[in-house]
Amino acid sequence: NAGGIRVIRYGMTRNWVAGLKVVTGTGDLLDLNGGLVKNNTGYDLRHLFVGSEGTLGFIVEATMKLTDKPMDSTVIVLAVPEMSDCLAVLQLFRRDLVLNAFEFFSHNALQKVMSTTHLAAPMATDSPYYVLLEFEHSDTAALSRAETAFANCLEQDLAVDGVMATSGKQNKQLWQYRERITEAITPSTPYKNDIAVRPSQVPRFLAAIDQVTARYFPEFEIVWFGHIGDGNLHLNILRPEDWQVTDFKSACDELNHHILDVVHEFRGSVSAEHGIGLLKKSYLRYTRSESEIALLRNLKQVFDPNGIMNPGKML
Ligand SMILES: Cc1cc2nc3c(=O)[nH]c(=O)nc-3n(C[C@H](O)[C@H](O)[C@H](O)COP(=O)(O)OP(=O)(O)OC[C@H]3O[C@@H](n4cnc5c(N)ncnc54)[C@H](O)[C@@H]3O)c2cc1C
Repeated sequence: NAGGIRVIRYGMTRNWVAGLKVVTGTGDLLDLNGGLVKNNTGYDLRHLFVGSEGTLGFIVEATMKLTDKPMDSTVIVLAVPEMSDCLAVLQLFRRDLVLNAFEFFSHNALQKVMSTTHLAAPMATDSPYYVLLEFEHSDTAALSRAETAFANCLEQDLAVDGVMATSGKQNKQLWQYRERITEAITPSTPYKNDIAVRPSQVPRFLAAIDQVTARYFPEFEIVWFGHIGDGNLHLNILRPEDWQVTDFKSACDELNHHILDVVHEFRGSVSAEHGIGLLKKSYLRYTRSESEIALLRNLKQVFDPNGIMNPGKML
């Protein structure tokens, strides 16, 4: 059930699965939904298998929906001083344009990208946050609407500066500020979290996590980036240079429980897109209730009574 930068446009992979053939842990071959568009006949088992990480059965065939080829697109990067204004910018652009992506990153993320890649600053003005959005257009009317939205952002003080690409080459250049963050922070052995809340909650959620981190480990630096348009944030805590990797990791493991308490408080997800696997098994309870986990275990028992399908994962 993967989904990344373009979830705001296309949704998660689940939305595109029209049918599955699955062999369960009991050896039964199930033919689920068979590519039907309409099939209102009770529980949709197809969706139980999407994102189940191989714990219920083995998918042997998938029928996927297709869509139109993407049209031309243009990238805009805006300097947004207030986190809460990122959402106002989203509303403004979404009203008049088809958005393919709506990403954000913090100023220190941009600085690290610039220092490791030697890319020049995207604009003259610094800001605590930046929004990168990509919109689709088939005609010049959409481009004019984008220019108007851009101007409105500046007029309403939602953004203090910005740049709109004028060519495919410039689109690619602007994407680099977002796409090269992971590479830029790798030397600091970041402790990563892939968390999500409802988009409207993002500003309060981000502030709460900054606060909890500063309370326990004020020396830790956080680099934020992610798919703010769908509420998915990538939280990266950087190892201070004078900390050993093992000490840093155990400190972060301890801190993580406080961070995940915040995720729980916001009714968020401990794994927006990366799944649970082994690493996040003990975190499941921050997003799923005790009774839900008990039901998941019961379902596992139904489809895989001998525990042979990806044993030990997820639950
Ligand atoms: C650097 C990096 C960036 C990432 N960024 C994103 C992102 O932006 N968005 C996102 O959604 N994810 C992201 N991911 C996670 C990524 O989606 C998953 O790692 C990837 O989808 C797994 O695909 P794979 O082909 O490697 O599958 P595998 O690792 O082989 O399998 C994934 C899971 O599916 C199960 N499985 C495999 N085949 C079958 C089958 N036939 N039937 C049933 N179960 C099966 C496996 O048991 C396993 O649990 C990222 C991962 C990395 C390493």
